[in-house]
Amino acid sequence: MAKLTDKVALVTGASRGIGKAIAIRLAHEGAKVVVTATTQQGAQATAQAIQEMGGQADARAVDISDEASVAAVVSEVLKTHGTIDILVNNAGITRDNLLVRMSADDWRSVIDVNLSGTFYCIKAVAKNMMRKRTGKIINITSVVGQIGNAGQANYSAAKAGLIGMTKSVAKELAGRNVQVNCVAPGYIQTDMTADLPDGAKEKLLEAIPAGKMGDPEDVAGVVAFLASSDADYITGQVINADGGMVM
Ligand code: NDP
Repeated sequence: MAKLTDKVALVTGASRGIGKAIAIRLAHEGAKVVVTATTQQGAQATAQAIQEMGGQADARAVDISDEASVAAVVSEVLKTHGTIDILVNNAGITRDNLLVRMSADDWRSVIDVNLSGTFYCIKAVAKNMMRKRTGKIINITSVVGQIGNAGQANYSAAKAGLIGMTKSVAKELAGRNVQVNCVAPGYIQTDMTADLPDGAKEKLLEAIPAGKMGDPEDVAGVVAFLASSDADYITGQVINADGGMVM
């Protein structure tokens, strides 16, 4: 039975990869999905895929690192749908380099999108959830925010920051029946990981007890669970979808 019938879900970074799989899975569970990405075209492609499978979706372009755009899109969605029941903060970028070679611009852009962007989205949506006394916020962090990774000081700082923010906001909103959790994917097959050199891939695979990369759907299933009423008593948690990489 569909677990999210008539819930309105907003998913950031849903044009491809993990966000696309999350949007499709939430729609499959009966949610009306607001698909977002940096371009209308990218968001629309996923919304159309959902509509073609009989689900409900619409598309909006938003750069989550721009607070005013986030506020405008959220207020437009609230006007159209009347509510946002589920917020999935999935959008993220990498700008990898060893610390000594990392430019301040690469540091800032990763923090601006991955950490500040998520803060803007939560801030824009939280009041509606608090007023209704119900809501689910799911932030996509990473194993790298737990164990670090050479060449990703900016990204791991942002992802670790998300875990701290999740726990703080979970404490603030628990009394209003709003649950806030993280999913920490390991090594998942998407555009983000497509360009790794073969040697680096083999080394990473050795660190995964399951012996294989994950699929975006492996993350989407955990998000669908956290978005459902089955997870009503779970808040402030980080659930790893990583084939046993961090345990
Ligand atoms: P992709 O690079 O495949 O997709 C990134 C998505 O984020 C796209 O939809 C992109 O939109 C969107 N996006 C990028 N910048 C912005 C922005 N400024 N505003 C709004 N949307 C933006 O990434 P993945 O699917 O691999 O990753 C999804 C999430 O999962 C990220 O947070 C990532 O850090 C995390 N993750 C991924 C892992 C992996 O192994 N792949 C492992 C652990 C965590 P557009 O198409 O318009 O550019």
